[in-house]
Amino acid sequence: MAQVQKRNRVPLLAGNWKMFKTISEATALVQALKAGCAGISNREILVCPPFAALSTVRDLVRGTNIRLGAQNMHWQLEGAFTGEISPVMVKDAGCQYVIIGHSERRQYFGETDETVNRKTKAAFGQTLIPIVCVGETLAEREAGQQLQVVEEQVRGGLAGLKPAEAEKLVIAYEPVWAIGTGKTATPEQAQEMHQWIRKLLSEFGNGAEQKIKILYGGSIKPDNIDMIMQQPDIDGGLVGGASLKAEDFSRIIKFIG
Ligand code: PEP
Repeated sequence: MAQVQKRNRVPLLAGNWKMFKTISEATALVQALKAGCAGISNREILVCPPFAALSTVRDLVRGTNIRLGAQNMHWQLEGAFTGEISPVMVKDAGCQYVIIGHSERRQYFGETDETVNRKTKAAFGQTLIPIVCVGETLAEREAGQQLQVVEEQVRGGLAGLKPAEAEKLVIAYEPVWAIGTGKTATPEQAQEMHQWIRKLLSEFGNGAEQKIKILYGGSIKPDNIDMIMQQPDIDGGLVGGASLKAEDFSRIIKFIG
């Protein structure tokens, strides 16, 4: 049953380029990725370049199977917020998706569940699909608190969403201890958390939890993606380091499982 339901959710493979790639480097990466994943139609492919490269990448992916996303945004539509970018601007730059509450934003830039919630609502206000990131630290996992921590992030980040919005959401479970460290959650650890998140999402009602994609993120590589994607509640990946190489990301997109 779970496998049948999983197939109804088209896998999403999203590349988070973080603060990497100048415009010329971004151009080279996207050109290579276009060649590497041409003709793939049974997977959704997304790249999230830094803001400065968004419009260049938008022009390069137009008419292809690659979608565009931003890595962050403010929740206000405009205003005196030096250094920020608004949901309207993200939409105008050609994005369909926006990553919200990545652990690096939580850790280094004071992102909280409350700001995640504001940004998530603002994304829906512009018909952007938010990819809401959650995940526990190593200390929290070692203390056995991971389910509780992620529950708080899910409840706080998604508070007040309408069921019709909720079903369009994407959640990324990214254990902080697995991001950029080379350590991956075991498929069983990831599956346990994804199942837990899906149970929490069922509170939106109307079967929303069966429509919401839950991605895994944390040191995904070509040699572990197949095993990860075999888990029934894992609907794709949010990929950092390995999305910076077209060959690696193309292989991840072509996972077998
Ligand atoms: C990320 O940036 O969301 C991420 C999971 O990074 P990495 O794949 O490098 O661990």
